[in-house]
Amino acid sequence: MRFTQLLIPTTKEAPSDAVLPSHIYLTRAGYIQSVGSGLYNFLPLGKRVLDNVRQVAKEELDKAGCQEVDLAFVTPAALWRESGRFEKYGKELLRLKDRKSNDFVLGPTHEEMMVNLVRQTVKSYKQLPINLYQIKTKFRDEIRPRFGLMRGREFLMKDGYSFAADEEGMRADFDLMEKTYSRIFERLGLDYRIVEADSGAIGGSGSKEFMVIADSGEDTIVVCDSCDYGANIEAAKRAAVVCEVEAPEISMSSKFRTEGVKTIEDLSAFFHVDPYYLVKTVAMKALYDEGVTKCVLFALRGSDILEETKACNAVNANELLALSEEELIAEGLVPGFMGPHKLSAEITIIYDEGLREGRSLICGANEEDYHFVGFDLRGVEVEYHDLVAVQAGDGCPRCSGKLKHTKGIEVGHIFQLGTQYSAPLKAEFLDENGKSKPFVMGTYGIGISRLLAAIIEQHHDDKGCIWTKASAPFAVQIIVSNIKKEEEKEAGEKLYTALQAEGIEVLLDDRKERFGFKMKDFELIGIPLAVVIGKNLAEGKVEIISREGLEKEEVASDKILDEVLRRL
Ligand code: ATP
Ligand code: MG
Repeated sequence: MRFTQLLIPTTKEAPSDAVLPSHIYLTRAGYIQSVGSGLYNFLPLGKRVLDNVRQVAKEELDKAGCQEVDLAFVTPAALWRESGRFEKYGKELLRLKDRKSNDFVLGPTHEEMMVNLVRQTVKSYKQLPINLYQIKTKFRDEIRPRFGLMRGREFLMKDGYSFAADEEGMRADFDLMEKTYSRIFERLGLDYRIVEADSGAIGGSGSKEFMVIADSGEDTIVVCDSCDYGANIEAAKRAAVVCEVEAPEISMSSKFRTEGVKTIEDLSAFFHVDPYYLVKTVAMKALYDEGVTKCVLFALRGSDILEETKACNAVNANELLALSEEELIAEGLVPGFMGPHKLSAEITIIYDEGLREGRSLICGANEEDYHFVGFDLRGVEVEYHDLVAVQAGDGCPRCSGKLKHTKGIEVGHIFQLGTQYSAPLKAEFLDENGKSKPFVMGTYGIGISRLLAAIIEQHHDDKGCIWTKASAPFAVQIIVSNIKKEEEKEAGEKLYTALQAEGIEVLLDDRKERFGFKMKDFELIGIPLAVVIGKNLAEGKVEIISREGLEKEEVASDKILDEVLRRL
């Protein structure tokens, strides 16, 4: 296509709220246009990239035997009530009414819709397994839409759902999707890692995320320095911690005056005790359906940090919120001196696994200016859960390696659902013995529009985008240095026609602009390869530039077609 005929509104100005390179460059290079918080228009270049990413996903999914469908975006609330998610989904779910006052929601994901489709059409085990997907707009009223396409409110997702006759079938579907997703991200040229993910209150190891490694990623992932263990911090495990400092000799079991000593640090200094032997108590407000709230205390070792997603799962809440000092006091708690010892029976307390059978501990006495010394959990029946955030330097749960943190962008999520939706929605089939059974499901997502941002986060320099081959809006750009020079113009046209005849997607910069200006746009837009037709054409030479590293090479003008084809 010709630059002069395409709408490519490149600009020097970055959006005022943009901090990430992908947000800045995708806007400046004319790929996307903001229309409101978390809402974007895709301009011609952006649409081309979006279609490329979508096509790669589609090809691999179709090869794996998945079938593409296209479900209604506006979904009846009745289905969401059947699954119990109408309430549970919270404020991200955009609810609306039609003229007859019927309730609807804009699909943030489509489990209910897909289960509804299948329960009406699939009746026998002979039709299983089946895997249906769509590539479709989603709407989530995100609390903090930001970073451009990374976290929009309206975005494009590939969402797929597998239906099997039993658990074994579900696991086979899941494994196939793991392989298929890997191929998709490899083809897109991404450096990614598959990590264990939080499976919500269901637990288990049936959930994995595909993380594009990038410093700007919103997710913290924990990886091992010697094996391939990787997990989202929300689900990461570690080897059991052994404290090198011996337990303090505590001969008594009583409260101790600790005036004004409120933090773990101060307490450790006050008692000359390693934080490992202190109990950290974190109070949170747990939110449940129908506006029900409950105050919960989480107790862990002073040397550990609470991981909120794990804590939230432990109490099966929809969300956890911090409590203000006033709220703590209203609950009968004493800020700075909270502890599990002699706590009112009304308050739920969950202990971290690391405290199991703990002794010689020091915890808050639930009394102003007092701590309790000699707290002992041996033989006491309490509820334990894994609550801690794995820290850099902790031991790997699989090998003797050390764990470290890196940042990742979640571009895909695969999840073994079991009968979580099929059971409440009564989606059943008849097995070999004519017995009704709920489908055993998997759910699989890819952030198609987020991928545009993820690719650029990983592939850019200080001048602009550097698209990977499979994602690039065009494979080659021809830059005619001075369009007023007939020979240059002609050579450009000739190469343009020849490349098109080869079926290559080519962009011809035929604008009457200065060469420097056109080069800047090339660098900003990020097409992987350019041919510059300039003044050396008179000597039978043109220049070929690869966008990555901006390496230039002179090539004989009569060999340029072959050279371009060789490099694609
Ligand atoms: P996140 O943790 O980033 O909010 P999620 O766990 O809510 O994502 P899923 O429900 O697993 O996301 O959705 C599948 C995929 O859709 C994600 O892996 C991600 O790539 C993409 N996605 C989710 N939310 C957004 C959003 N607000 N904007 C763009 N893409 C998104
Ligand atoms: Mg997810």
